[in-house]
This record gives sequence, C-alpha cells and structure tokens, in this order.
Amino acid sequence: MSVSPLLMSLEKALRCLSGVGPRSASRMALPLLERDREGGLHLAEMLSQALERIEHCEICSNLTEIQPCPICQDISRDQSLLCVVSSPGDILTIEQSGLFKGRYHCLSGLLSPLEGLGPKEIGLSELVQRIYDEKPAECLVALASTVEGEATTHQIVTGISGPTRVTRLAQGVPV
Ligand code: ZN
Repeated sequence: MSVSPLLMSLEKALRCLSGVGPRSASRMALPLLERDREGGLHLAEMLSQALERIEHCEICSNLTEIQPCPICQDISRDQSLLCVVSSPGDILTIEQSGLFKGRYHCLSGLLSPLEGLGPKEIGLSELVQRIYDEKPAECLVALASTVEGEATTHQIVTGISGPTRVTRLAQGVPV
C-alpha cells in the first residue's frame, strides 16, 4: 500500500462536511498532520463533545446542551412573543441582531413534498400545540419567501386558532 489507508479514511470522513469534495478533503487533512496536530486533536475533541452533548431544546427545538435552552429559561424575555423559524441558524442570526426579545420555535425545515417533508416531518403539530398551550399574544413567522416558506406559513396560519395574532417577518430581519 503506497498511501496510508488511515489518511485515505480521514479524507473520506472529512467529505461529510458540506461543500467538501476529494480535493479540499486532502487540503484539510495534510496540513493537520504535517503542521497542526494540536489543532487537529482539538477539532476532534470539539466535534466529539458537540455531537455528544448538543441536542434539540425540548421546548423550542433550538440546539442546546442544557434543557431547556437558555432562551427558553430566560424569564426576562417577552413571553407573549413567539418567533417561528425553520432552522437553528435563523435563531442565531436574529439573536445577533439583538432586536428580538421574545422566544422562538424552530421547525425542522420547511414543507417540501418533493423532499418528503410534510407537516409531521417538520414538526408543525408541536408548534400548533405549543401555541395552543401558551397562547402567546403574537406569533411572528420568519420563514423564507420561497414556495416552501409560503406553503409552511400558510399551514401555520391555518392551523392556529384562538387569540394569537400571526405576523409575517422577512427572514432574519425582525421589525
Ligand atoms: Zn428552547
């Protein structure tokens, strides 16, 4: 064997990262072995810890290592405002803007029949149930303005009954 089988396996493993093909996998693996073994070990440790400890918040589905997540635990946040997003990345973006002080509910993506994502797959009934239970005054729907985003927003609006007012937001840009 002229090439290290372990190196081959490492490069193959790196390709699970989004956007990484064979050539970039090789460009990542070699410098770690040649120049930054400490960084590589740290990366391995962080990956393993993150994968082991980060889960979805049992209330809002945000990514978190404590249950419920710090946002859900924060009683100083406006409990009457609920912002619906389609991924934990959206929560991060909105939080970084610092403009929204309510709480979140994170769906597991958007409705997309072609990809097999129906109401059950994206967790729509959990959202509707939560709104029914908590009765927030306002539900801000911050989903993409794509066909899938529109369809999902429509389903949310249809599914909600009771006193909650539904407002649409441009994605990631709270008013
Ligand atoms: Zn939470």
